[in-house]
Order: sequence, then C-alpha cells, then structure tokens
Amino acid sequence: MRSSCAPYKGCYQKGGKTKKTKKTKKTKKTKKKQTSFFAGGCFWGIEKKFSGLKGVLETQVGYMGGDYEDPTYEDVCSGQTGHMETVKVTYDPRIISYPQLVDFFMKIRDKKYYEPKSQYHSAIFCTDNQRGKLRKNKAKLLPITKFYVAEDYHQKYNFQKPCTKLDTESFDVFQKICKNNSRNAETKNKGKYLFDHTKGIYSCACCGTSLYDSEDKYDSGSGWPAFSASLSDDRLLFNPKSKEVRCAKCGLHLGHRTFDGPTKTKIHDCINSVCLSFDLKKTHIKELTEKGKAWAEAASLDMIQRTK
Ligand SMILES: [Zn+2]
Repeated sequence: MRSSCAPYKGCYQKGGKTKKTKKTKKTKKTKKKQTSFFAGGCFWGIEKKFSGLKGVLETQVGYMGGDYEDPTYEDVCSGQTGHMETVKVTYDPRIISYPQLVDFFMKIRDKKYYEPKSQYHSAIFCTDNQRGKLRKNKAKLLPITKFYVAEDYHQKYNFQKPCTKLDTESFDVFQKICKNNSRNAETKNKGKYLFDHTKGIYSCACCGTSLYDSEDKYDSGSGWPAFSASLSDDRLLFNPKSKEVRCAKCGLHLGHRTFDGPTKTKIHDCINSVCLSFDLKKTHIKELTEKGKAWAEAASLDMIQRTK
C-alpha cells in the first residue's frame, strides 16, 4: 500500500531531488543520520518520549546486551538471556547532538535500581567515539552489541492514546486509517472535507487538538485535503524520513508532508479527511448594538471630561 501522497508525480519528484542532494553532500559534511541505543526501563515509555523529541528521525524497540541469540519477549522476560529492553534512536546530529540525547535520556529513564543484565536495567550502549563525546557520565556505558528488533506489537506501543473527543465522518475508516496505521490512506476523492471551503478550524478527530485553519487549506489536486501550514508546528509530529505527520498530543496518524506546496515554506500536508474533525470559526462581533453604541459614546465623553 502507498502513503497518502504517493500517487502524485510531484511528491515523487520532490523526494527524488532531495535524496540526490543528500548523497552528494554526505561525504563532505556531518552525516545527516546517526544511531544511538538506550536502555532505561520499559522500552514502551522510553520510545514514546524519544519519538517526540526534535531531531529524532526514527525510533525502534528491541533487545541488546544479552548473550542469547534471537530472543523473544518471553525469553527476555525470563531474565535468563541478559538482554535489556533497548530503544534504537536514529537522529539528525545537525539538530540534536549525542550529548544532548544522553542528557534527555538521563531525565526520562527509569531511575529505580534493577540488577545488571535484568530487562529493565539502565545503560547507554555506545561506540568509542560516542563515549568520547560524553564528559561526565552518571549512566552505565556499555559497548554496542547486536540489536534484536522486538516483535511488531511492541513498536510504538505507548504512542497512541485512547480518543477523548472522537469525532469523525466514519468510525470504521477512522479505525483502519488513523489508528495504528502509518502508510495507508483513505480512498482518493472520498473524504468529507476535500472540497469543503467553509471557514473554520480542523482538529484531530481523536483528541480535539486544533491543527489547521481553513485559511491554509488549498486544492492540491491530489484527492486529499491539503494544507500549506499548521496552526503551530509543535501540535504536529513530522517524521522527515517516512514523511508521516501525526498529532503531537495523542499520536494519531494524520497523513504525510511533502514540500511541493504553494507557499514559501512549500509545506504540503496531505491529510486524511477521516482523521480530522471540523468546527466553524466563531465570528467576532463587529457590529455594536444600539445599547452598545450609547455606552461607547458615554464612555468616550467621560474620558474627554477626565482629561480636560
Ligand atoms: Zn490528537
């Protein structure tokens, strides 16, 4: 299955161009993608916190540090394999440095004491180079060993909160497209809000967080609602690698972002209608009533008297 923007030529071309530039620059400058590994208690919560951090491109949970091949979750829980629940964090070092990631980890890790080599034991798995970047280490540093990716049902486990203000045009489609999905899109040209130009605010259909203003909605010709800007960047989680856009508050999948939009920023958020809810914009009262006019006149006369 393709992502919501994938069927358009523009998206493909844009993506292709960006990749080419990356490749040519890669040899001269700092790598745009680096990897780090952290074990800090239950990996569900640690992954969730890292996935919302600016500069983090991708997260994955798994097992590291043991001496048993290809362990399952049950194996690790038995305490006999020596693996720790570990989060692989891929990040952009131009946005966040390794020491900054470590500082963040020190704040969010489970501070309870667990025996070394127990699944919740806390440690940073690092290369010699990474070790050299850390001045004061309060955490245990261990060499990186083989990372075994955990079972699918552990990935992004803690990311999606239950919906508190569920309001969607189709519950069935919502469950399929917005919940626990990051790739599939609603059927093209079928979304309720695609051709709607009423003035208002589009919110997350799950938690009600206001995300987009109708002023920034435009017809991209793609078959899905398109926005050239969000109400505020920190209300969205954007994964530059997968291009996925999620609600930052509840983790709901919304759609994908490309950079072939009509404004200066080029932002083109291609969003599934079914993952949004819509509220009419409240119009401000501009016209004064007769009573209001009389009050305003009296107030202005009063001010003149006082300043004489
Ligand atoms: Zn939400």
